[in-house]
Amino acid sequence: MATQTNLSINPRRLWDSIHDTARFGATPKGGLRRLAASAEDKQVRDWLAAACEAAGCTVAIDHCGNMFATYPGRRPDLKPIATGSHLDTQPTGGKFDGILGVLAGLEVIRTFAEMGYQTNAPIMVVNWTNEEGSRFAPAMQCSGVYAGALGLEDALATPDREGVTLGEALEAIGYAGGESVRSDRFQALFELHIEQGPILEAEGITIGAVQGVQGIRWHEVTLRGQDAHTGATPMGMRRDALCGMAAVVCALQEIGRRHAPGVASVGMAECRPNSRNVVPGEVFFTADIRHPDEAVLDEMEAAFLAALAEAAAANGLDVEQRRNWHSPAIAFDAGMIECVKLGAEKAGLATRDMLSGAGHDAAYLAPLVPTAMIFVPCEGGISHNEIEAATLEDCGAGTQVLLNAILEYDARLG
Ligand SMILES: [Zn+2]
Repeated sequence: MATQTNLSINPRRLWDSIHDTARFGATPKGGLRRLAASAEDKQVRDWLAAACEAAGCTVAIDHCGNMFATYPGRRPDLKPIATGSHLDTQPTGGKFDGILGVLAGLEVIRTFAEMGYQTNAPIMVVNWTNEEGSRFAPAMQCSGVYAGALGLEDALATPDREGVTLGEALEAIGYAGGESVRSDRFQALFELHIEQGPILEAEGITIGAVQGVQGIRWHEVTLRGQDAHTGATPMGMRRDALCGMAAVVCALQEIGRRHAPGVASVGMAECRPNSRNVVPGEVFFTADIRHPDEAVLDEMEAAFLAALAEAAAANGLDVEQRRNWHSPAIAFDAGMIECVKLGAEKAGLATRDMLSGAGHDAAYLAPLVPTAMIFVPCEGGISHNEIEAATLEDCGAGTQVLLNAILEYDARLG
């Protein structure tokens, strides 16, 4: 069967969905604060479920709150082709990260429904729970559980900084779903996402054909010295935990610079007791280290651990450290990438091969089923920020490529 090419998504309807749902967790600066399993997350989930049902889908929710909306295909013997992303955001996040991918899936289904078009395989729109990992660490948590890379019990028992577990939070918003977590719900996955980097915009290209995702390792560190009076404690007799951390922060920045295109950052830090006239006796901080090559990532991680040991020794500190997340570098499926490129070609759009610097749910799915990602530009490459922006035209273009890629893949199912 030849691929039907005259199906056009409605960019304005997609844009309205993005802005309609942006009231759930809206911040005064125009961004979103929609933490995983929060009251705002419930609002947007309810909206999505209602919209998918109105478009003819049935919605299933698994034990870790992942949402699967299925639009029927002509052949019930085929597993669905899935597309989706996440609706949760950073504490000061934007309106597009993750959200575009879920609402683009809805737009694809609405287009099929409106035109009375049926694919061979059912189409499934997925909303993964807790992609951001800011309230509950790690990130990409429930796609990780779906893929079997993370344990369900561990995920549900993960506490936020207030001690509320993910399981309790999902229960509280009514999204601790009744269906078991199983990893055979779909046969292939496309994820559309904003690039979260500056390359597409700088080169004036609308569609990124993502080849893979770089490896990511997260660490949590507590350094313990001794609280002491800042006025009465001589410099030589201090065990200043914050000074130890400062040395590690600078060392990590150097490690990132030495291993281009690798990157390394401390994004979260807590100083205790955090009082201006107390030498800090304890700090907690996180490290985030990334590289497309696992072997180089090993080197970067070893350098980080060496810097940590050195800083602790220099400042007389005890170290508690653990790697709390590892997302291996992955390559997406060649056949799926081809579908994306053909889909872009049909839409008259140029593509650029690229790697993802950010982690994505699709990375967990890639070892399981054929998977690919589509990127569209975001303004200034800025993301994880309330000013994160993308245009109606680019969001629409990405969604059209998504629909075309799904049709291309579906046509091969016969
Ligand atoms: Zn995202």
